[in-house]
Amino acid sequence: PPAETPQIVVDAHGLPYLDAELPVKRRVADLLSRMSLAEKAGQMAQAERGAVGTGADVATYDLGSLLSGGGSTPTPNTPEAWAKMIDGFQLRAQATRFQIPLVYGVDAVHGHNNLVGATVMPHNIGLGASRNPQLAQRTGAVTAAEVRATGVPWDFAPCLCVTRDERWGRSYESFGEDPALVDSLETVIQGLQGARNGKDLKDNDKVLATAKHFVGDGGTAYGSSTTGTYTIDQGVTKVTRQQLEAVHLAPYETAVDRGVGTVMPSYSSLDVLGDGQGPVKMHARADMINGVLKGRMDFDGFVISDWDGIDQIPGDRASDVRTSVNAGVDMVMVPYAFREFRTTLMEEARAGRVSGQRIDDAVSRILTQKFRLGLFEKPYADTSGASKIGSAEHRAVARRAAAESQVLLKNADGVLPLKGSEKVYVAGSNADDIGNQSGGWTVTWQGASGDITPGTTILEAMRKNSARLTYSKDASAPTTGHDIGVVVVGETPYAEGVGDVGNGHDLELSPADRAAVDKVCAAMKCAVLIVSGRPQLIGDRLGEIDALVASWLPGTEGDGVADVIYGKRAFTGQLPVTWPKSQEQLPINVGDTAYDPQFPYGWGLTTLTKVPEGGATTLKALGVAAAVAEKAGSEETGRAIVTKARLIVQQRKITAASAKPFAEADHLLLTGRYAAAVAQLTQAYRATG
Ligand code: BGC
Repeated sequence: PPAETPQIVVDAHGLPYLDAELPVKRRVADLLSRMSLAEKAGQMAQAERGAVGTGADVATYDLGSLLSGGGSTPTPNTPEAWAKMIDGFQLRAQATRFQIPLVYGVDAVHGHNNLVGATVMPHNIGLGASRNPQLAQRTGAVTAAEVRATGVPWDFAPCLCVTRDERWGRSYESFGEDPALVDSLETVIQGLQGARNGKDLKDNDKVLATAKHFVGDGGTAYGSSTTGTYTIDQGVTKVTRQQLEAVHLAPYETAVDRGVGTVMPSYSSLDVLGDGQGPVKMHARADMINGVLKGRMDFDGFVISDWDGIDQIPGDRASDVRTSVNAGVDMVMVPYAFREFRTTLMEEARAGRVSGQRIDDAVSRILTQKFRLGLFEKPYADTSGASKIGSAEHRAVARRAAAESQVLLKNADGVLPLKGSEKVYVAGSNADDIGNQSGGWTVTWQGASGDITPGTTILEAMRKNSARLTYSKDASAPTTGHDIGVVVVGETPYAEGVGDVGNGHDLELSPADRAAVDKVCAAMKCAVLIVSGRPQLIGDRLGEIDALVASWLPGTEGDGVADVIYGKRAFTGQLPVTWPKSQEQLPINVGDTAYDPQFPYGWGLTTLTKVPEGGATTLKALGVAAAVAEKAGSEETGRAIVTKARLIVQQRKITAASAKPFAEADHLLLTGRYAAAVAQLTQAYRATG
């Protein structure tokens, strides 16, 4: 405990639940049997850290959890201050009758992004482009180590959203539009929680993870419905039962199998065609939370509501509490109304509208995770790993992830990679901006432009490689005399609430960005890098651009972007979402009957110097080798073979007709069907003539 900690006298010593040698189940049962209704209801509440003042409320209301969330009071800036803050709250929890520790949660969705100086990873959409499950796992491990070293044992990540319409502003939190791709990158859960399938989370570099937002957050419809006006963020997901299962629920099967410790329901409503319910808020869907998640999938962790999520259920506070808890929500994120929540829940329980059994189940699930985290034994921050926060070792992982996330969409005349000896003209709004290249959930909830945290901008990284470089953000400096232009354009940060008509964020580049592209590309050969959370519309401009790169939101390590621009690493990224030609094409996803995008799902050129030779004959041989790898269950070989086949095909021009089998091959690769993947690629090859 912290040095200034006063001694607190407790009567809990010696009780069985404090015995770390006993199985978790017994400890939970013992503790639960001693708790009052008020103590149980308190465990089910999560308050915002700024709402509890100095923390006295933690003990007064027996709070189970606190958070620093998106809408929270600004959080401390140093690891020490974080640890001190959390220790202070834990100290309060130690003053309760049973000394039940708090479980503190944060949104560390791409590194410990609340903390200035932490390693900021590419957002999930970039990891989706990397297609590298091992790398995704390593980013999770780095995140967990940095988060836990500040005393935080719980991370509201990863988002398992399968984005189906990139007008949705949270598309950047998605690994992609294909559930198989999302599935394959859930290795991030092991990275966060460790290898013991969520059963033991005691290590000081592991955290409890959250699969969110259950379910269908990535499937919300654009525009307004007949039942009222809503926004694409937090809107209505209208699907058939089959689509719900195959697209949106599938990633949760995997997450539960991997032992994810908590699940967060989505703000969105679910409207399953033909089930007669119409659109119902996910926080109220007992059939999904109790039925599918806890019943069919056998999820044994706890369900944490989203921020004030239960308020969106129609009705008053009492009915919100009753409906959500009865639907299977175990802990409610009630940032400010935690007192009222606790009282209401107790009233509902006394009146028999929420059963004692339901409350006991919820509290058991919460206590189980607290025991698994080892919080009863070690409630205070273990800061021994704090020196690794933002360390070179951690940044190297982020740099690698940034490099592998870059997708080379076009590369006429082999403009990229740069040699470094050229005279380079760099322009654009996102060339020199750590805030913009990191996106939302960086230091603050919505993120911000500018120098918000230590890191390397793309421009700074380019300067290390190009001695002769001119930088002019708005391209106002004279363009003459240069060999090549690099224009870095794209979005400015946002986290939530984005996506509808007229809210200032659509998929069009800003007028300033368009002007910079036009000016530089008219004057010289040019490469355009798009730093954004989702595709941006290029349309007819594609003709004037020589090389085009989807950079996504690479995070603090701009060096990773420079690595591929200068050929220190090859471009290997592939599109995790379909890149549309126009706004009218949206939503557009691989598998659609009419599919004529600007770039298909899975697309991505490579600058590997050793591009495999050969055509149909080589593909045939690869098909045989793939079948062998598949039989032997050798994943690494299978992937390598399919990648080789993909590269052969990619040397031909991909047309709309060949795009589909190309993308399907990708899907097959992700599901371990290597031979079929090569067969599909062979078909794509033939389609190119
Ligand atoms: C977001 C969640 C997040 C929560 C806590 C909500 O607005 O939808 O993803 O975990 O805030 O910050």
